[in-house]
Amino acid sequence: MELAKLLASWPVVRQLRDGDPLGLGPAVRSRRTDSLVPRTDEADHVVQSVCPYCAVGCGQLVYVKDGEVTHIEGDPASPISRGRLCPKGQASKSYVQSPLREYKVKYRRPYGDAWEELDLDTAMEMIVDRIVETRATTWRKRTDGGAPANRTMAIGNLGGATLDNEENYLIKKLMTALGVVQVENQARI
Ligand code: SF4
Repeated sequence: MELAKLLASWPVVRQLRDGDPLGLGPAVRSRRTDSLVPRTDEADHVVQSVCPYCAVGCGQLVYVKDGEVTHIEGDPASPISRGRLCPKGQASKSYVQSPLREYKVKYRRPYGDAWEELDLDTAMEMIVDRIVETRATTWRKRTDGGAPANRTMAIGNLGGATLDNEENYLIKKLMTALGVVQVENQARI
């Protein structure tokens, strides 16, 4: 009996028996292959989303189990990306779940050689103080030629590619209201 089983598992026998003479189909499937399941199989549900990283706006399928994101892949239904994601979009699960993600404000003081942790309220107060002081000391009401300017050239804003459209919109509004004209985003550089 054992011998018969052994013979039946021999690939050549399986090729002949299963009508797969070239060994390109079921005859070469191992037990392990048969037991493999997609890593998305355990998800409770799937949410259609859009990659937040750049202006291409590729479609994503976000797999969720017990309220946690378990996997993100390209959405074949997206007319923009048709199931594809670049490596950054493919790795976007790490945006929320990476063990390297920082949850504290990091501050390196002038001439400091190490990062310090600040609580958010302290950091916000420090930013506000600097903006108010810089605007007060560098405000230009007019250009050298006398045209209206109402701006400061001493503050710039550089956004990152993880900012989404709504955040970029609000940042641009805030910067314009502050008279900051040097507004850029890393995704454009
Ligand atoms: S970062 Fe990549 S996956 Fe995300 S929208 Fe841009 S091109 Fe698409």
